[in-house]
Amino acid sequence: MKTFVHRGQITKVVFGSGTRSRIPEEADALGRRRVLILCTPGQWDQASEIRDLLGATAVGTFAEAAPHTPVEVTEKAVAYAESVEADSVLAIGGGSTIGLGKAIAVRTGLPQLALPTTYAGSEMTPILGETEGGRKTTRRLPEVLPRTVVYDVDLTLTLPVATSVVSGVNAMAHAVEALYAQDRDPMAFLMAGEALDALTRSLPVIARRGDDVEARADASYGAWLAGTCLGTVGMALHHKVCHVLGGTFGLPHAETHTVVLPHVVAHNGPAAPEAMARIASALARDDAAGGLFDFAGRLGAPTALRDLGMPESGIEQAAELVVRDGYWNPRPVERTAVRALLTRAWAGETP
Ligand code: NAD
Repeated sequence: MKTFVHRGQITKVVFGSGTRSRIPEEADALGRRRVLILCTPGQWDQASEIRDLLGATAVGTFAEAAPHTPVEVTEKAVAYAESVEADSVLAIGGGSTIGLGKAIAVRTGLPQLALPTTYAGSEMTPILGETEGGRKTTRRLPEVLPRTVVYDVDLTLTLPVATSVVSGVNAMAHAVEALYAQDRDPMAFLMAGEALDALTRSLPVIARRGDDVEARADASYGAWLAGTCLGTVGMALHHKVCHVLGGTFGLPHAETHTVVLPHVVAHNGPAAPEAMARIASALARDDAAGGLFDFAGRLGAPTALRDLGMPESGIEQAAELVVRDGYWNPRPVERTAVRALLTRAWAGETP
Protein backbone atom coordinates (compact mmCIF):
# COMPACT_ATOMS: atom_id res chain seq x y z
CA MET A 1 0.00 0.00 0.00
CA LYS A 2 1.26 3.49 -0.85
CA THR A 3 1.08 6.19 1.79
CA PHE A 4 1.55 9.74 0.56
CA VAL A 5 0.75 13.42 0.82
CA HIS A 6 0.03 15.33 -2.41
CA ARG A 7 -0.02 19.12 -2.61
CA GLY A 8 -2.16 20.49 -5.45
CA GLN A 9 -1.56 23.87 -7.04
CA ILE A 10 -3.82 26.85 -7.48
CA THR A 11 -2.30 28.16 -10.73
CA LYS A 12 -4.53 28.30 -13.79
CA VAL A 13 -2.66 27.00 -16.85
CA VAL A 14 -3.54 27.77 -20.46
CA PHE A 15 -1.51 25.85 -23.06
CA GLY A 16 -1.35 26.02 -26.84
CA SER A 17 -0.38 28.08 -29.86
CA GLY A 18 -1.60 31.66 -30.19
CA THR A 19 -2.79 31.54 -26.58
CA ARG A 20 -1.22 34.96 -25.86
CA SER A 21 -4.33 36.44 -27.47
CA ARG A 22 -6.17 35.31 -24.31
CA ILE A 23 -4.09 37.56 -22.06
CA PRO A 24 -6.68 40.39 -21.90
CA GLU A 25 -9.40 37.95 -20.87
CA GLU A 26 -7.12 36.27 -18.31
CA ALA A 27 -6.24 39.65 -16.78
CA ASP A 28 -9.94 40.47 -16.71
CA ALA A 29 -10.74 37.12 -15.06
CA LEU A 30 -8.43 38.15 -12.22
CA GLY A 31 -10.17 41.53 -12.06
CA ARG A 32 -7.00 43.35 -13.16
CA ARG A 33 -7.24 46.74 -14.89
CA ARG A 34 -3.66 48.07 -14.56
CA VAL A 35 -1.06 45.54 -15.71
CA LEU A 36 2.68 46.22 -15.53
CA ILE A 37 4.60 44.18 -18.12
CA LEU A 38 8.03 42.77 -17.20
CA CYS A 39 10.72 41.57 -19.62
CA THR A 40 14.46 41.65 -20.30
CA PRO A 41 15.86 44.26 -22.71
CA GLY A 42 16.18 41.48 -25.33
CA GLN A 43 12.47 40.61 -25.23
CA TRP A 44 11.15 44.15 -25.67
CA ASP A 45 9.48 43.32 -29.00
CA GLN A 46 7.58 40.33 -27.60
CA ALA A 47 6.54 42.46 -24.61
CA SER A 48 5.35 45.23 -26.92
CA GLU A 49 3.06 42.80 -28.68
CA ILE A 50 1.46 41.89 -25.35
CA ARG A 51 1.20 45.57 -24.48
CA ASP A 52 -0.69 46.19 -27.74
CA LEU A 53 -3.02 43.29 -26.96
CA LEU A 54 -3.80 44.72 -23.52
CA GLY A 55 -4.33 48.27 -24.81
CA ALA A 56 -5.18 50.71 -22.03
CA THR A 57 -4.99 47.90 -19.43
CA ALA A 58 -1.18 47.91 -19.84
CA VAL A 59 0.13 50.78 -17.71
CA GLY A 60 3.84 50.33 -18.37
CA THR A 61 6.73 48.06 -19.32
CA PHE A 62 9.72 47.44 -17.06
CA ALA A 63 12.39 45.92 -19.30
CA GLU A 64 15.29 45.44 -16.90
CA ALA A 65 14.81 41.88 -15.63
CA ALA A 66 18.24 40.33 -14.97
CA PRO A 67 19.62 36.88 -14.03
CA HIS A 68 19.39 35.77 -10.38
CA THR A 69 16.89 38.51 -9.44
CA PRO A 70 19.18 41.23 -8.02
CA VAL A 71 17.44 43.13 -5.20
CA GLU A 72 18.47 46.53 -6.70
CA VAL A 73 16.53 45.73 -9.87
CA THR A 74 13.51 44.60 -7.85
CA GLU A 75 13.51 47.83 -5.82
CA LYS A 76 13.55 49.89 -9.00
CA ALA A 77 10.72 47.80 -10.45
CA VAL A 78 8.62 48.14 -7.27
CA ALA A 79 9.05 51.94 -7.37
CA TYR A 80 7.99 51.94 -11.01
CA ALA A 81 4.97 49.69 -10.27
CA GLU A 82 3.90 52.12 -7.56
CA SER A 83 4.40 55.16 -9.81
CA VAL A 84 2.09 53.72 -12.48
CA GLU A 85 -0.36 52.35 -9.84
CA ALA A 86 -0.13 48.82 -11.22
CA ASP A 87 -2.61 46.28 -9.82
CA SER A 88 -0.77 43.25 -11.27
CA VAL A 89 2.38 42.21 -13.12
CA LEU A 90 2.72 40.16 -16.27
CA ALA A 91 6.12 38.54 -16.88
CA ILE A 92 6.98 37.54 -20.41
CA GLY A 93 10.27 35.63 -20.50
CA GLY A 94 12.31 32.99 -18.74
CA GLY A 95 13.16 32.34 -15.11
CA SER A 96 14.85 35.72 -14.68
CA THR A 97 11.77 37.72 -15.65
CA ILE A 98 9.33 35.48 -13.79
CA GLY A 99 11.67 35.71 -10.78
CA LEU A 100 11.36 39.50 -10.90
CA GLY A 101 7.56 39.14 -10.94
CA LYS A 102 7.77 36.95 -7.83
CA ALA A 103 10.09 39.40 -6.08
CA ILE A 104 7.60 42.21 -6.78
CA ALA A 105 4.69 40.02 -5.65
CA VAL A 106 6.29 39.28 -2.28
CA ARG A 107 6.91 43.00 -1.62
CA THR A 108 3.63 44.41 -2.89
CA GLY A 109 1.10 41.59 -2.95
CA LEU A 110 0.48 42.22 -6.68
CA PRO A 111 -0.68 39.03 -8.44
CA GLN A 112 1.39 37.76 -11.36
CA LEU A 113 0.44 36.42 -14.78
CA ALA A 114 3.26 34.65 -16.61
CA LEU A 115 4.01 33.94 -20.24
CA PRO A 116 7.03 31.61 -20.04
CA THR A 117 9.36 31.60 -23.04
CA THR A 118 12.04 29.14 -21.84
CA TYR A 119 11.86 25.68 -20.23
CA ALA A 120 13.17 26.69 -16.76
CA GLY A 121 9.81 26.07 -15.07
CA SER A 122 9.90 28.89 -12.51
CA GLU A 123 6.31 29.85 -13.42
CA MET A 124 5.02 26.69 -11.69
CA THR A 125 6.92 27.07 -8.43
CA PRO A 126 6.50 28.99 -5.16
CA ILE A 127 10.30 29.34 -5.05
CA LEU A 128 11.85 32.80 -5.01
CA GLY A 129 15.61 33.11 -5.50
CA GLU A 130 17.15 36.56 -4.96
CA THR A 131 20.66 38.00 -5.01
CA GLU A 132 21.91 40.67 -2.66
CA GLY A 133 25.53 41.65 -2.15
CA GLY A 134 26.67 38.76 -4.35
CA ARG A 135 24.79 36.17 -2.25
CA LYS A 136 21.85 34.22 -3.61
CA THR A 137 19.19 32.98 -1.22
CA THR A 138 16.09 30.93 -1.94
CA ARG A 139 12.75 30.87 -0.18
CA ARG A 140 9.49 28.96 -0.68
CA LEU A 141 6.52 31.33 -0.42
CA PRO A 142 3.08 30.28 -1.66
CA GLU A 143 2.17 33.92 -2.39
CA VAL A 144 4.75 34.21 -5.20
CA LEU A 145 3.17 31.45 -7.28
CA PRO A 146 1.79 33.04 -10.48
CA ARG A 147 -2.01 33.08 -10.57
CA THR A 148 -2.28 32.41 -14.30
CA VAL A 149 0.32 30.89 -16.63
CA VAL A 150 -0.19 31.09 -20.38
CA TYR A 151 2.10 28.84 -22.41
CA ASP A 152 2.18 30.00 -26.00
CA VAL A 153 4.47 27.80 -28.07
CA ASP A 154 4.84 30.57 -30.68
CA LEU A 155 6.81 32.68 -28.17
CA THR A 156 9.41 29.91 -27.74
CA LEU A 157 10.32 29.74 -31.44
CA THR A 158 12.79 32.62 -31.05
CA LEU A 159 14.69 30.97 -28.19
CA PRO A 160 18.12 30.18 -29.73
CA VAL A 161 18.73 26.47 -30.23
CA ALA A 162 21.75 26.31 -27.88
CA THR A 163 19.77 28.03 -25.11
CA SER A 164 16.76 25.82 -25.79
CA VAL A 165 18.80 22.66 -25.30
CA VAL A 166 20.31 23.66 -21.95
CA SER A 167 17.01 25.11 -20.77
CA GLY A 168 15.34 21.80 -21.65
CA VAL A 169 17.96 19.84 -19.69
CA ASN A 170 17.39 22.25 -16.78
CA ALA A 171 13.75 21.09 -16.86
CA MET A 172 14.88 17.45 -17.03
CA ALA A 173 16.89 18.03 -13.84
CA HIS A 174 13.71 19.06 -11.98
CA ALA A 175 12.03 15.86 -13.17
CA VAL A 176 15.01 13.67 -12.27
CA GLU A 177 15.15 14.97 -8.70
CA ALA A 178 11.36 14.65 -8.37
CA LEU A 179 11.64 10.92 -9.23
CA TYR A 180 13.72 10.30 -6.10
CA ALA A 181 12.47 13.14 -3.87
CA GLN A 182 11.89 12.18 -0.26
CA ASP A 183 8.34 13.61 -0.40
CA ARG A 184 7.50 12.39 -3.93
CA ASP A 185 3.97 11.21 -4.42
CA PRO A 186 2.48 9.04 -7.19
CA MET A 187 1.39 12.09 -9.20
CA ALA A 188 4.83 13.74 -9.03
CA PHE A 189 6.42 10.45 -10.17
CA LEU A 190 4.03 10.21 -13.13
CA MET A 191 4.52 13.87 -14.10
CA ALA A 192 8.30 13.61 -13.82
CA GLY A 193 8.43 10.51 -16.02
CA GLU A 194 6.13 12.09 -18.59
CA ALA A 195 8.26 15.26 -18.53
CA LEU A 196 11.38 13.23 -19.26
CA ASP A 197 9.65 11.40 -22.12
CA ALA A 198 8.51 14.71 -23.66
CA LEU A 199 11.91 16.40 -23.30
CA THR A 200 14.02 13.47 -24.51
CA ARG A 201 11.68 13.24 -27.53
CA SER A 202 11.59 16.95 -28.37
CA LEU A 203 15.05 18.36 -27.62
CA PRO A 204 16.88 16.36 -30.34
CA VAL A 205 14.31 17.62 -32.88
CA ILE A 206 14.72 21.24 -31.69
CA ALA A 207 18.53 20.86 -31.91
CA ARG A 208 18.09 20.14 -35.63
CA ARG A 209 15.12 22.41 -36.40
CA GLY A 210 14.52 25.20 -33.93
CA ASP A 211 11.29 26.17 -35.71
CA ASP A 212 9.58 22.79 -35.36
CA VAL A 213 6.33 23.85 -33.67
CA GLU A 214 5.30 20.34 -32.58
CA ALA A 215 8.67 19.71 -30.91
CA ARG A 216 8.54 23.15 -29.30
CA ALA A 217 5.08 22.40 -27.92
CA ASP A 218 6.30 19.04 -26.62
CA ALA A 219 9.24 20.73 -24.86
CA SER A 220 6.98 23.33 -23.24
CA TYR A 221 4.65 20.54 -22.16
CA GLY A 222 7.61 18.75 -20.54
CA ALA A 223 8.77 22.00 -18.96
CA TRP A 224 5.32 22.61 -17.48
CA LEU A 225 5.28 19.14 -15.90
CA ALA A 226 8.87 19.41 -14.70
CA GLY A 227 8.25 22.87 -13.22
CA THR A 228 5.17 21.53 -11.45
CA CYS A 229 7.33 18.79 -9.92
CA LEU A 230 9.89 21.37 -8.81
CA GLY A 231 7.07 23.34 -7.22
CA THR A 232 5.49 20.45 -5.36
CA VAL A 233 8.28 18.18 -4.09
CA GLY A 234 11.68 18.85 -2.52
CA MET A 235 14.89 18.85 -4.53
CA ALA A 236 18.21 17.30 -3.46
CA LEU A 237 21.95 17.18 -4.23
CA HIS A 238 21.72 18.25 -7.87
CA HIS A 239 19.90 21.51 -7.16
CA LYS A 240 22.18 22.18 -4.19
CA VAL A 241 25.33 21.77 -6.33
CA CYS A 242 23.96 24.03 -9.08
CA HIS A 243 22.88 26.65 -6.55
CA VAL A 244 26.39 26.74 -5.08
CA LEU A 245 28.09 26.88 -8.48
CA GLY A 246 25.76 29.63 -9.75
CA GLY A 247 25.81 31.66 -6.55
CA THR A 248 29.52 31.44 -5.69
CA PHE A 249 31.19 31.21 -9.08
CA GLY A 250 28.61 33.03 -11.22
CA LEU A 251 28.26 30.08 -13.59
CA PRO A 252 25.37 30.27 -16.09
CA HIS A 253 22.21 28.63 -14.71
CA ALA A 254 20.91 26.22 -17.35
CA GLU A 255 24.37 25.24 -18.66
CA THR A 256 25.48 24.34 -15.13
CA HIS A 257 22.44 22.09 -14.67
CA THR A 258 23.28 20.38 -17.96
CA VAL A 259 26.86 19.60 -16.98
CA VAL A 260 26.17 18.54 -13.39
CA LEU A 261 23.08 16.33 -13.84
CA PRO A 262 24.71 13.10 -15.13
CA HIS A 263 27.30 13.22 -12.34
CA VAL A 264 24.74 13.61 -9.56
CA VAL A 265 22.64 10.85 -11.11
CA ALA A 266 25.70 8.57 -11.09
CA HIS A 267 26.21 9.38 -7.40
CA ASN A 268 22.57 8.88 -6.39
CA GLY A 269 21.90 5.92 -8.69
CA PRO A 270 22.65 3.08 -6.22
CA ALA A 271 20.20 4.59 -3.71
CA ALA A 272 17.37 5.29 -6.17
CA PRO A 273 16.83 2.27 -8.45
CA GLU A 274 13.21 3.08 -9.34
CA ALA A 275 14.14 6.60 -10.46
CA MET A 276 17.13 5.28 -12.44
CA ALA A 277 14.93 2.81 -14.28
CA ARG A 278 12.48 5.57 -15.25
CA ILE A 279 15.26 7.90 -16.47
CA ALA A 280 16.88 5.08 -18.45
CA SER A 281 13.53 4.21 -19.99
CA ALA A 282 12.97 7.83 -21.13
CA LEU A 283 16.43 7.81 -22.73
CA ALA A 284 16.00 4.28 -24.15
CA ARG A 285 19.26 3.31 -22.45
CA ASP A 286 20.35 0.84 -19.77
CA ASP A 287 22.35 3.37 -17.80
CA ALA A 288 20.67 6.59 -16.59
CA ALA A 289 23.85 8.61 -15.86
CA GLY A 290 25.70 7.59 -19.02
CA GLY A 291 22.52 8.11 -21.01
CA LEU A 292 22.14 11.69 -19.71
CA PHE A 293 25.80 12.46 -20.42
CA ASP A 294 25.58 11.17 -24.00
CA PHE A 295 22.22 12.91 -24.53
CA ALA A 296 23.69 16.33 -23.66
CA GLY A 297 26.79 15.66 -25.77
CA ARG A 298 24.74 14.64 -28.80
CA LEU A 299 22.75 17.88 -28.56
CA GLY A 300 25.96 19.90 -28.58
CA ALA A 301 25.46 21.08 -24.99
CA PRO A 302 28.43 21.80 -22.69
CA THR A 303 29.73 18.81 -20.68
CA ALA A 304 32.54 20.41 -18.63
CA LEU A 305 32.39 23.01 -15.85
CA ARG A 306 35.77 24.33 -16.92
CA ASP A 307 34.18 25.43 -20.20
CA LEU A 308 31.64 27.47 -18.20
CA GLY A 309 34.32 29.49 -16.40
CA MET A 310 34.67 27.38 -13.25
CA PRO A 311 38.22 27.61 -11.81
CA GLU A 312 39.74 24.25 -10.87
CA SER A 313 40.86 25.86 -7.61
CA GLY A 314 37.18 26.39 -6.72
CA ILE A 315 36.33 22.67 -6.53
CA GLU A 316 37.37 22.34 -2.89
CA GLN A 317 35.37 25.39 -1.79
CA ALA A 318 32.34 24.23 -3.77
CA ALA A 319 32.50 20.76 -2.15
CA GLU A 320 32.68 22.40 1.27
CA LEU A 321 29.62 24.59 0.56
CA VAL A 322 27.62 21.68 -0.87
CA VAL A 323 28.03 19.57 2.28
CA ARG A 324 27.78 22.45 4.78
CA ASP A 325 23.99 22.76 5.15
CA GLY A 326 22.05 19.65 5.89
CA TYR A 327 19.39 18.60 3.37
CA TRP A 328 17.87 15.34 2.30
CA ASN A 329 19.42 13.28 -0.50
CA PRO A 330 18.76 9.64 -1.39
CA ARG A 331 22.43 8.85 -0.74
CA PRO A 332 24.51 10.45 2.01
CA VAL A 333 26.38 13.55 0.82
CA GLU A 334 30.05 13.35 1.83
CA ARG A 335 32.69 15.86 0.99
CA THR A 336 35.08 13.37 -0.64
CA ALA A 337 32.35 12.04 -2.94
CA VAL A 338 31.19 15.56 -3.84
CA ARG A 339 34.75 16.63 -4.58
CA ALA A 340 35.23 13.59 -6.84
CA LEU A 341 31.93 14.27 -8.62
CA LEU A 342 32.84 17.94 -9.14
CA THR A 343 36.30 17.04 -10.40
CA ARG A 344 34.86 14.79 -13.10
CA ALA A 345 32.23 17.38 -14.01
CA TRP A 346 34.91 20.08 -14.16
CA ALA A 347 37.03 18.06 -16.57
CA GLY A 348 34.08 16.88 -18.69
CA GLU A 349 34.75 13.21 -17.94
CA THR A 350 32.04 10.57 -18.21
CA PRO A 351 30.08 10.16 -14.95
P1 NAD B 1 16.62 33.67 -18.47
O1 NAD B 1 15.27 34.00 -18.01
O2 NAD B 1 17.76 34.38 -17.81
O3 NAD B 1 16.68 33.90 -20.05
C1 NAD B 1 17.93 33.81 -20.73
C2 NAD B 1 17.96 34.81 -21.88
O4 NAD B 1 17.13 34.33 -22.92
C3 NAD B 1 17.42 36.19 -21.50
O5 NAD B 1 18.20 37.18 -22.11
C4 NAD B 1 16.02 36.17 -22.09
O6 NAD B 1 15.53 37.45 -22.43
C5 NAD B 1 16.23 35.33 -23.32
N1 NAD B 1 15.02 34.68 -23.80
C6 NAD B 1 14.12 34.00 -23.05
N2 NAD B 1 13.17 33.49 -23.81
C7 NAD B 1 13.43 33.87 -25.08
C8 NAD B 1 12.80 33.65 -26.33
N3 NAD B 1 11.72 32.89 -26.42
N4 NAD B 1 13.34 34.20 -27.42
C9 NAD B 1 14.47 34.92 -27.33
N5 NAD B 1 15.14 35.15 -26.17
C10 NAD B 1 14.62 34.63 -25.07
O7 NAD B 1 16.94 32.11 -18.37
P2 NAD B 1 16.18 30.92 -17.66
O8 NAD B 1 17.11 29.77 -17.76
O9 NAD B 1 14.80 30.78 -18.14
O10 NAD B 1 16.08 31.38 -16.14
C11 NAD B 1 17.20 31.37 -15.30
C12 NAD B 1 16.86 32.06 -13.98
O11 NAD B 1 15.65 31.54 -13.46
C13 NAD B 1 17.91 31.84 -12.91
O12 NAD B 1 18.04 33.01 -12.14
C14 NAD B 1 17.33 30.72 -12.08
O13 NAD B 1 17.80 30.72 -10.76
C15 NAD B 1 15.86 31.04 -12.16
N6 NAD B 1 14.98 29.85 -11.98
C16 NAD B 1 14.14 29.88 -10.92
C17 NAD B 1 13.29 28.81 -10.72
C18 NAD B 1 12.34 28.87 -9.57
O14 NAD B 1 11.55 27.97 -9.39
N7 NAD B 1 12.38 29.89 -8.76
C19 NAD B 1 13.28 27.72 -11.60
C20 NAD B 1 14.16 27.73 -12.67
C21 NAD B 1 15.01 28.82 -12.86
